[in-house]
Amino acid sequence: MSATWATRPSPHPPVPARHAPPPAGALNWAQRGWAGLRQAGENWPGLCCLCGRWQARTLCRDCEHAWRPPASLKRCHRCALPWLSATDAEHCPVCERQSPEFDRAITALDYVAPWSHLIGRLKFQHDTALVTPLARLLTEAVRQRPHPVDLVLPVPLSPSRLRERGFNQAWLLGRQVAHALGHRGCDQLVLRTRSTHRLMGLSAADRQASISGVFALAPGARAHLRGRHVAVVDDVLTTGATLNEVTQVLREAGAASVSAWVLARTPDPGGLS
Ligand SMILES: [Zn+2]
Ligand SMILES: [Zn+2]
Repeated sequence: MSATWATRPSPHPPVPARHAPPPAGALNWAQRGWAGLRQAGENWPGLCCLCGRWQARTLCRDCEHAWRPPASLKRCHRCALPWLSATDAEHCPVCERQSPEFDRAITALDYVAPWSHLIGRLKFQHDTALVTPLARLLTEAVRQRPHPVDLVLPVPLSPSRLRERGFNQAWLLGRQVAHALGHRGCDQLVLRTRSTHRLMGLSAADRQASISGVFALAPGARAHLRGRHVAVVDDVLTTGATLNEVTQVLREAGAASVSAWVLARTPDPGGLS
């Protein structure tokens, strides 16, 4: 891979270390200070984000084991929905009828309490200290499903949303997962050309209509995607409309395969759009 995109200026500096620095931008000094203290809590005693007890980790092992889905839970390889099946089939009946655009979906969690609350804290209260423990969970989930990966990308935010929030939570997660797994990562190849209203609460059809056509390739990106196995990271997978749209852009650029790596999967969203 050439250095063209790897050296392209990014709103996020490369993070070789386990702990991403607090993002700049919309965070005020108090939020940055709190996020820094919480990140330090990954190494120093602090409060667990779930049980509130003094722990050596932001998410203590007891809470992690108590709230994670069981490792034995069978999920559809295509859409990552929990799936009760007595057969060896890899795809659920919904995906057999109408498969998503991406080749596979891997999730660490279900989008239910308490994880939904933590993801909300990360996105809307800027609690970026949660990135490291959540990225670790996603890394472990990806490790359990070996597949070819050349490049890790986030679902991009629009420039206005990025300015407003100060960070792209999908990229904060994705670059830590990419680093942990030894993959290249880049948040500059696919662009979101306009903001969309929050998709939460919309029907599958309305989500599809809202998200249609909002993603585009960055100039020069096609050469770095052709023939590549690409993993796209997002925080939550609900109907799949967003990841389907990103996948279509990547396929048009010649990507060999597209995997969706998501932190949390919404149970029973009413079918993939
Ligand atoms: Zn705990
Ligand atoms: Zn499925």
